[in-house]
Amino acid sequence: MTMFKTMLAGVALSTAFIAQADAQTKGPIGISMPTKTSSRWIADGDNMVKVLKERGYKADLQYADDDIPNQLAQIENMITKGAKVLVIAAIDGTTLSNVLQKAADKGIKVIAYDRLIRGSKNVDYYATFDNFQVGVQQGSYIEKSLNLKSAKGPFNVELFGGSSDDNNAHFFYNGAMSVLKPYMDQGKVVVRSKQLGMEKVATLRWDGAVAQSRMDNLLSAYYTKDHVDAVLSPYDGLSIGILSSLKGVGYGTPKQPMPVVTGQDAEIPSVKSIVRGEQRSTVFKDTRELAKVTVNMVDALLSGKAPEVNDTKTYNNGVKVVPAFLLKPVTVDKSNWMDVLVTKSAYYTAAQIQ
Ligand code: BGC
Repeated sequence: MTMFKTMLAGVALSTAFIAQADAQTKGPIGISMPTKTSSRWIADGDNMVKVLKERGYKADLQYADDDIPNQLAQIENMITKGAKVLVIAAIDGTTLSNVLQKAADKGIKVIAYDRLIRGSKNVDYYATFDNFQVGVQQGSYIEKSLNLKSAKGPFNVELFGGSSDDNNAHFFYNGAMSVLKPYMDQGKVVVRSKQLGMEKVATLRWDGAVAQSRMDNLLSAYYTKDHVDAVLSPYDGLSIGILSSLKGVGYGTPKQPMPVVTGQDAEIPSVKSIVRGEQRSTVFKDTRELAKVTVNMVDALLSGKAPEVNDTKTYNNGVKVVPAFLLKPVTVDKSNWMDVLVTKSAYYTAAQIQ
């Protein structure tokens, strides 16, 4: 190598080195996730770290084991370690006001991730999916599968809600009810248990075991002679519990077919269940897209620009309307799982499902 070439190589190397160093010097960005018990949140955390790294940010990712004091302590720690922006998927959306005041006092911006943070003015932006639409899709799936528009009925349907301390759970329930309630009013859909409304149907911490035992109780109290035709389930982890309960009393045979059970998140065990013909649908929310939208917000906030939003009306957190970017959820069932989850998005490989 000539001297000149050696020098050039040296310059290229040091530029590469600087770029590399640059690549990890922005931030840190604190990412507080609720739990690892659901693969959706693991994917969210991984995608956030990946996109942040690609854009040159250091990431501080923490999972709180669905424990509220744990999440508070982790966020405090992120503030102490000098986080530039906090990205938070709250366990209980109402418990963060004090810690967010500490963040605001230090000029740290806060993005509510997927779940709205309630009761605090110190929430700057919200990145999520159209949560009401998720519920509409779940309700519409039941409407379509039972052919509610033209069939006479009546059909027996039971309702499950998510965790009441999660703002999303109310949006999912209300979205589903916007479709199902008119059929209840006509008497085409009957909730034999009469358990209606989030106060009655919520499932604390989105716990599948809690849903399973509630389904056990519903079956033994109201369905020893009657057949359940559909169960509104807002999340795959609950659907798994509900399906085990149904199987436990003999559903899933030609004589006693499985009711239409919905879900959300397109988690692998549930997509497999859909392929087997047990769970009937889920709602796919591409967490890679949510990570991109969120990191775009981080970038904008740190460069003094206004983050892109597409909703400035829906998400009132009790103190203010939080400007939001809403992504579109997609219904998945046996007819389109391959197309949506594998062919078009490459979210999964076919081998992960089959
Ligand atoms: C999320 C859902 C998820 C649920 C349980 C909600 O806040 O929006 O995607 O199914 O939490 O983890």
